[in-house]
Amino acid sequence: MARNKVELTRRSFLKKSSVSATLLTAFPYSVLANAFNVSDDNRILVIGAGLAGLSCAYELDRAGYNVMVLEAKSHPGGRVRTYRDSFADNLYAEMGAEYVDSSDEYVKKYCKHFELSILPAKQYDGIYVRNKHINMDDLRSGKVKLPFDGAMRGKLFGQEVKYIQKWIDLVKKEGIDSKKVQSLDKLSVQQLLKKGGAPNDIIDLYTYLNATESTTVPSKMSALSMVLSHVKTSGFSENTVEGRILGGNDMLPKAFAKKLGSKIKYNHAVNSINTTSTGLELNFSTKTNNYTVKGIKCVFAVPTTILKNIKVNPGLSREKSYCIQNLSYGHVMKIAMQFQKRFWDSNNSIGQRVFTDTPLRRVYHFSIDQPGPRGILLSFTSGDDALKLGSMSENSRMKIAKKSCKNIWSDSDDYWENGISKYWNEDKWIKASYSLKGIDQKGYRGILAKTEEPFYFAGEHTAINYASMNGAIESGIRVSNNIIKK
Ligand SMILES: Cc1cc2nc3c(=O)[nH]c(=O)nc-3n(C[C@H](O)[C@H](O)[C@H](O)COP(=O)(O)OP(=O)(O)OC[C@H]3O[C@@H](n4cnc5c(N)ncnc54)[C@H](O)[C@@H]3O)c2cc1C
Repeated sequence: MARNKVELTRRSFLKKSSVSATLLTAFPYSVLANAFNVSDDNRILVIGAGLAGLSCAYELDRAGYNVMVLEAKSHPGGRVRTYRDSFADNLYAEMGAEYVDSSDEYVKKYCKHFELSILPAKQYDGIYVRNKHINMDDLRSGKVKLPFDGAMRGKLFGQEVKYIQKWIDLVKKEGIDSKKVQSLDKLSVQQLLKKGGAPNDIIDLYTYLNATESTTVPSKMSALSMVLSHVKTSGFSENTVEGRILGGNDMLPKAFAKKLGSKIKYNHAVNSINTTSTGLELNFSTKTNNYTVKGIKCVFAVPTTILKNIKVNPGLSREKSYCIQNLSYGHVMKIAMQFQKRFWDSNNSIGQRVFTDTPLRRVYHFSIDQPGPRGILLSFTSGDDALKLGSMSENSRMKIAKKSCKNIWSDSDDYWENGISKYWNEDKWIKASYSLKGIDQKGYRGILAKTEEPFYFAGEHTAINYASMNGAIESGIRVSNNIIKK
């Protein structure tokens, strides 16, 4: 999921700092951290061992820099998370990032580098909306129409185009920078569709299709971003060909982490950072105590939902702080369900990969590369449905998941064995889905990516290809290049 692509302008960064950092010293109310080597004039501190922090640290390390990664959790990967112990028969499931696009050049480059293969995923073959089962081929051929007022025959995604065509034409005629075009950023997708005469059903469809990918609802998405996605890029649709890393996506962060070895400090949660006359001091907590470590530069590779609570003294610029406080994220939950048998492959099944307006939103056979007879259906639930399910107990979430499966595949209850959810907004060290283009936020990414010496900023939210693994690595490489260039 998470396939948004936009362009942003980036500027080159500030002059090299001449400050040097030396000894590891105790935080006022703590004991000395003896786990680290003492003294290094060029230590670069990277906060967060997601793909952004890992790729940045990996390239800095390869270039000969002394790098230390501080990670709050006890494992690498952040929002790339493969659950392995929750299922029988060595089955596993992606509870975070899942798909690699053919255009994901950084993911593909590092998979090749670490000798990981990418497995093509099967395409969507079923739709279950408004209690109707629709075969994807029947939809494509026009034999069956979506039960939504105003829906065109022959397609699932892109139903909104006709209502925003005049804006698409305007961009083509006047260019992206025209004032009229840029003013669309003040409007939500919902407002623009209403203005264009779209029936409520088309807005509902947009919710279950595109807004689900963005983990939000049309009233919180920028109309500018929607219009540009139809002009400049090929967005996600029922025809997108996707892949994932064979054996589990966590193999990519683990490969980076293995190379970095003890340069990653797990269970090290950063609380605050002070710049001093000799460099910077970073304060962190372990399970047992608080410590300080010194460095010369610091790379933030955490979502802004976390960054906004890390105290930086003296503070970051006003524009940066504003964007950190206000950047939009949605809500997202994955639910992995283990079944005794792969009933979705039977002849009378609607399919093995289904778009739906039930709280599951996208539900598909995940374990295609794993031997049966057991199998895992995985759901990608987002926006209001994720928010609603997120407020419930695990037990209630499973009841709803099970009931939704039964509506889609009538015999699913007979084979249900177990289920588990991961609601990313309740994860203490993430508190988010992935970033999105909110209303009036067109300049945010450029500001969020800008260096404020000695601070550098990585993370998917700073990337051109935001909301993706590829964007996370793209941002890590941008920052490592900027540090190396100086
Ligand atoms: C459910 C879901 C589905 C997705 N689907 C896809 C997909 O199909 N394809 C795709 O390409 N992308 C997908 N994404 C997006 C992708 O996962 C992210 O864009 C990417 O992994 C973000 O990487 P990052 O390094 O920027 O941040 P993160 O992975 O969030 O890394 C941040 C790290 O910082 C750590 N941290 C937080 N606070 C502190 C602190 N105070 N001190 C130290 N460490 C801290 C965290 O523990 C975490 O490890 C999905 C994401 C989710 C949640």
